[in-house]
Amino acid sequence: MDFTLSAEQAQIRDMVAEFVDEEVVPVASEIDHDDEFPRDLVSEMAELGLMGMPFPEKYGGAGLDYHSYAIGLEEISRGSGGLGTVVAAHISLAGNMLYEFGDEDQKQEYLVPLAEGRDIGAFALSEAGAGSDVPAMATTAEKDGDEYVVNGGKLWISNGSVADTITLFAKTDPEAGNKGISSFIVRPEEDDGFIVEGTEEKLGDKGCPTAELRFDDMRLPEDRLIGEEGEGFVQALKTLNGGRITIAARGVGIARAAFEEARDYANEREQFGQPIGEFQSIKHKLADMDTKIQAATLLMHKAADKKIRGEEYIKDAAQAKLYASEVSREVANEGIQIHGGYGYTKDFPAERFYRDAKLNEIYEGTSEVLRNTIGDQLLET
Ligand SMILES: Cc1cc2nc3c(=O)[nH]c(=O)nc-3n(C[C@H](O)[C@H](O)[C@H](O)COP(=O)(O)OP(=O)(O)OC[C@H]3O[C@@H](n4cnc5c(N)ncnc54)[C@H](O)[C@@H]3O)c2cc1C
Repeated sequence: MDFTLSAEQAQIRDMVAEFVDEEVVPVASEIDHDDEFPRDLVSEMAELGLMGMPFPEKYGGAGLDYHSYAIGLEEISRGSGGLGTVVAAHISLAGNMLYEFGDEDQKQEYLVPLAEGRDIGAFALSEAGAGSDVPAMATTAEKDGDEYVVNGGKLWISNGSVADTITLFAKTDPEAGNKGISSFIVRPEEDDGFIVEGTEEKLGDKGCPTAELRFDDMRLPEDRLIGEEGEGFVQALKTLNGGRITIAARGVGIARAAFEEARDYANEREQFGQPIGEFQSIKHKLADMDTKIQAATLLMHKAADKKIRGEEYIKDAAQAKLYASEVSREVANEGIQIHGGYGYTKDFPAERFYRDAKLNEIYEGTSEVLRNTIGDQLLET
């Protein structure tokens, strides 16, 4: 067992960390305040190959292993939680749907521009009445000659209002439960009947637009079907499974940002004639924060390792995402506590880390649903 990063992995980490420190950290509170999609930063990330990290070079990607991708996303999220979601939804969800399940033509036409960062991707699964309960979705795609006619709507779609390519889930056989769900490629600019209803005002995760989408008799050519009819539910579960490793990375990144900021503050802030870090209660908080971050990081890499080896990793990805999500919220909470009153104001980023961290416990499987997943895996004989 070797916990050391390879030379290439360390190089990726250093490159992304330098970019984040120079370009993202200085504008992170502005992104948080303005809540606008950071298109310039995304273009810079595309130039560095960060919008297609895990995809092979022949599909426009950087050809990185999943450890490196997780490290990259951790660093990006350390700078901005919203930017972390932009990249995770683009790569882990939209991009991976095409990479894992698209045919060669679809990969060339839609994955390559995503991986090169010329296009932005989104993944549209959730609906107003179907969040955790995916098969309850009401969006339909009815075959009409050589087209599908899509009607319905999606909610909370990260990048949904800025995306060039969206992987969409709809029922082609509404009577068949989860076996009646299929997935499609949507091109908002080309497809009449695609409507952005608006974007959410959120607690955190600013900069990543979370959109409500509607489809009114939206016609899709049949070659936009991904895989076969009826395969959408399994595709979604497999894609979310891989995605959970990167939400763990977002959790670790935000937790590290909260920890590092709190540690520096504990060294500087003096009360009763000494730095507050010298009080045992503050020192112990920092010790617990770092210990939890180390454990979450190991779970993240364990899940990535199993994925790379081609082993079953449903439980590992769920545990990594569950634990890192809760750790990010706990560490960010303690970060505010260490800052005292200042932590509750916008003068310090501690409160932003807390707002950004909370989302990890909700999307790509709530913590409750992940505990169900882990429990089911444990009881499987
Ligand atoms: C900022 C943001 C970005 C998002 N991005 C995307 C995206 O890009 N694409 C996309 O498709 N979706 C996205 N989502 C949707 C997200 O995945 C859902 O919000 C999530 O799956 C939970 O669904 P829900 O909100 O309907 O909650 P519900 O499913 O209604 O859950 C409500 C509560 O009940 C609990 N619960 C539900 N079912 C069970 C159960 N079986 N056992 C125990 N407890 C249960 C939940 O854990 C939760 O506490 C995003 C959401 C947010 C907030």
